[in-house]
Amino acid sequence: MDSQSQQLNVIFLPYPTPGHMIPMIDTARLFAKHGANVTIITTHANASSFQKAIKSDFNSGHPIKTQLIHFPSAQAGLPDGVENIKDATSSEILGKIIHGIEMLKDEIELLFQKLQPDCIVSDMFYPWTVESAAKLSIPRLYYYSTSYFSNCSAHFIRKYKPHEDLVSDTQIFSIPGLPHNIQITSLQLQEGVMTRNELSDYFDAIYESEGRSYGTLYNSFHELESDYEQLYKNTMGIKAWSVGPVSTWINKGDVQKRHNEDLVVESKLLNWLNSKPDDSVLYVSFGSLTKLPHAQLVELAHGLENSRHNFIWVVRRKDEDGESFLEDFEERMKESKKGYIIWNWAPQVLILDHPATGGIVTHCGWNSILESLSAGLSMITWPMFAEQFYNEKLLVDVLKIGVPVGSKVNKFWASVGEDAVVKREEIAKAVVLLMGSEEESIEMRRRARKIGDAAKKSIEEGGSSYNNLMQLIDELKSLKISRGLEKTN
Ligand code: UDP
Repeated sequence: MDSQSQQLNVIFLPYPTPGHMIPMIDTARLFAKHGANVTIITTHANASSFQKAIKSDFNSGHPIKTQLIHFPSAQAGLPDGVENIKDATSSEILGKIIHGIEMLKDEIELLFQKLQPDCIVSDMFYPWTVESAAKLSIPRLYYYSTSYFSNCSAHFIRKYKPHEDLVSDTQIFSIPGLPHNIQITSLQLQEGVMTRNELSDYFDAIYESEGRSYGTLYNSFHELESDYEQLYKNTMGIKAWSVGPVSTWINKGDVQKRHNEDLVVESKLLNWLNSKPDDSVLYVSFGSLTKLPHAQLVELAHGLENSRHNFIWVVRRKDEDGESFLEDFEERMKESKKGYIIWNWAPQVLILDHPATGGIVTHCGWNSILESLSAGLSMITWPMFAEQFYNEKLLVDVLKIGVPVGSKVNKFWASVGEDAVVKREEIAKAVVLLMGSEEESIEMRRRARKIGDAAKKSIEEGGSSYNNLMQLIDELKSLKISRGLEKTN
């Protein structure tokens, strides 16, 4: 075979929401950096968030490109440019964005036929790509950036249904089948588990597609959760490759870190951070989708102020609901120099890696957890929805680097109510414990730093994630060669 026909062509199909898209783009870039010919399929507005990085990779000789498709804004009833789940400001708009994404299926199928890839790396939210890959007789890799721990927990809850025999939603039960005693309540389980709804059928299709895939890519690393990596492989019988933390890997040595074009905002922020002592700043973020009710914003503001620690807090404009409370709070914090508010979107990796940053309040989205772990930070855990409550258990009960704030109910932003508000006293108490100088706080920071070191080692040449990625690329190349031989015979 000539070198052209030996080249491995891999298509990446990300789902347009930051928590899914960012790690998949990082992974695609890693594939290209290590010799695979990569095509990312996405729409125009979504591509704009990572195009600069792809261009720069391409100019450095990495075989990577974006294949743009047109988002059906008019048919979906959306204004131009609203193509990402994070753009939703109401349930109605959210529904329209999801519908628009679903409408892209036929065009993507045609592209698969045209591009004739050797492998499709598909986001979990496209279960139908398992059929597309079967039609082309190529492997499909299932991808969703979360922990083995959370997938194992969800699997055993689906299998044994321990939540079905309880007297109340708040009764604590242990998740069966896990190597640690992990306790949870029904209120903390994902939507569609307690009571079946239309989401449950969709998730059944997703899990089924995972089982029928060639394997699963994990944005995790062996040293972080080896028991659960093993458990996943053994009990689910699915091949898996841990290739993370992908963000740390691809951004290694890049002082600019990823995106954020607003250099003025960035330099102001860096000046503020540079003026603070090492490990003295708490970074507060709830990821890209969470929407906090006004009462919670007020409690959080007071909790942070009362803790007397320095903080950076990312607030999304749509959280504000037209109130001026936060603008007044921002003014007060500017005067005291204790707090720094970032509106809408923060250069998160840049902040986490800054020496002044000493901890994070996180909603336990897996990407934020990995980015914090890589920076060696311990965390205040404040899960909101999806599998974030499982991730909290991993941080608090297994890794022992998390301080739980006391979040009790799994609710997506559209339905978050005033009833689930965490009080300012609890918030301040958690901040003081995380950032303080008690033995417990110091121990947590020590453990987090050790994990951070292990994360960095895993992506060095010869490290576990590095080796896994190289092995996977080799395996995919061998499969391509065997397919070629079958065709010629
Ligand atoms: N993120 C960011 N700036 C923000 C909010 C989020 O860069 O202001 C990035 C963050 O670094 C992470 C991703 O968006 O890579 C969010 O993913 P995560 O899994 O933490 O949470 P989700 O947004 O999916 O709930």
